[in-house]
Amino acid sequence: MSLFRAQGLVRRFGGLLATDHVDLTVQAGEIHALIGPNGAGKSTLVNLISGVLKPDAGGLVLDGVNLTGMSMNQRVRHGLSRCFQITSIFRDQTVLGNLLLAVQAHNGSSFHFFKPRDKEMALQRQARELAARAGLSGVLDVMAGNLPHGVQRKLDVALALASRPKLLLLDEPMAGMGPEDSLQMVELIRGLRQHCAILLIEHDMDAVFQLADRISVLVYGKILTTGNAAHIQGHPQVQAVYLGTGE
Ligand code: ADP
Ligand code: MG
Repeated sequence: MSLFRAQGLVRRFGGLLATDHVDLTVQAGEIHALIGPNGAGKSTLVNLISGVLKPDAGGLVLDGVNLTGMSMNQRVRHGLSRCFQITSIFRDQTVLGNLLLAVQAHNGSSFHFFKPRDKEMALQRQARELAARAGLSGVLDVMAGNLPHGVQRKLDVALALASRPKLLLLDEPMAGMGPEDSLQMVELIRGLRQHCAILLIEHDMDAVFQLADRISVLVYGKILTTGNAAHIQGHPQVQAVYLGTGE
């Protein structure tokens, strides 16, 4: 059984069918990439999955739980997390401060019966663990607003991990990054797969082909095909509608 399944998802904007009966699965431990030309409906699909938008039809199941009618916060509590492209960072807090706030927000209640000092130690340990996972151990005391763009993006990923997601949604994590930062982000994402499954929306095709176990191609709101990198690269229609455009 798949960890995550979207079934028959439909979303209209007036007369436009932005999401056209989309079926999509993500397996446990899988990195599943979603690609497609501008306007194909990638962000709409991510918004339907995370709960920013309500679907006109269709449903979502994560680890046996029906998410379809749930609010964004409820989805997070049931194991779905999304990167918000830096907007969730407190710029006037240190990296460690940001991580502590996130860990506390998501796991604070699980330390309900701890003594205050033990609770503080447990939160500190979790925050530092997340920092290590995201390659941030060297900048714990730096004000988040002073971090270079690429490092802020890493912090954003670390914050999304604080809720211990089963499925992590990454909407263009490499956007606006130089080659060096992109490489580091690829390594970071590769390391995450042992902790959670990932649905990755990304324009950087090198990154997609390096990371993804499976790739789904979205065109005019519909999934054109799903398969591994070789399948996608050899698919004539994909070359015509997407790769051939030089995007
Ligand atoms: P992508 O992320 O693949 O570039 P989007 O999901 O942003 O594609 O958009 C898919 C289509 O839906 C586009 O034609 C876009 O103009 C349209 N669209 C997206 N959001 C809205 C909205 N809130 N209202 C009206 N049309 C929208
Ligand atoms: Mg988009």
